[in-house]
Amino acid sequence: MSMRFSGKVVVVTGAGAGIGRATAMAFAAEGLKVVVADLDVSGGEGTVELIRAAGGTSVFVPCNVTLEAQVRQLMAQTISTYGRLDYAFNNAGIEIEHGRLADGTQDEFDAIMGVNVKGVWLCMKYQLPLLLAQGGGAIVNTASVAGLGAAPKMSIYSASKHAVIGLTKSAAIEYAKKGIRVNAVCPAVIDTDMFRRAYEADPKKAEYAAAIHPVGRIGKVEEVASAVLYLCSDDAAFTTGHALAVDGGALAI
Ligand code: NAD
Repeated sequence: MSMRFSGKVVVVTGAGAGIGRATAMAFAAEGLKVVVADLDVSGGEGTVELIRAAGGTSVFVPCNVTLEAQVRQLMAQTISTYGRLDYAFNNAGIEIEHGRLADGTQDEFDAIMGVNVKGVWLCMKYQLPLLLAQGGGAIVNTASVAGLGAAPKMSIYSASKHAVIGLTKSAAIEYAKKGIRVNAVCPAVIDTDMFRRAYEADPKKAEYAAAIHPVGRIGKVEEVASAVLYLCSDDAAFTTGHALAVDGGALAI
């Protein structure tokens, strides 16, 4: 266990699976107390079990990030359980492939924007006052390479992730002099349930997914987790308002 996060507390949303679970576990392995938040109770409890089995400290708080009362409660429970908040990884997100722009439905638009944009906004809305009161901290939001460029057949998702970067950069500027840094990670295709739902059914798509990354493979959840921990750590003390691609070189093409 390193000392870079000694005594610190982090909230991770969407921590019941995939990138969120791996990042929650990576934080716990570095000695942080981890608040695992997810609307999936068995996934969230499963992450806490894994953390505790590895000797870490963690609690599960059920939370649908689209509901203000639940987000407010998540932050209140963080303070009542661990007494402070130092970092947040606002990662809960959904992806729906809906064909070309005109084929998307209003329900799909509302669902994607609700989780990916409103969810991140609500989380920051209730985290920032806590970080301010404490005199500093860091937030990382999960965007996507689809937030930095186009994502054919996923235009609503792409718009939602562009919005996450907009929220990230604006908050970074607003709180820069208050000791609070706000950054985003922008993964390309990462091996999670989300990936499997979208790609694995069609072997051609899976092959394509590997090929769009110059390194020749899709990413691992631990590779996103490392980037999130770096952005929270003091190693990134001069980095704020940044959207960091974790993409195997995909955007360099
Ligand atoms: P995943 O589907 O494996 O896990 C997402 C988790 O978020 C699940 O546990 C789910 O229950 C939870 N969740 C969904 N809606 C929620 C809500 N309203 N409130 C609380 N929790 C909710 O997905 P993942 O691949 O780990 O994705 C995590 C994040 O990374 C998302 O924001 C996603 O858009 C982004 N991302 C993923 C990839 C990829 O290839 N997997 C690429 C780029 C960005």
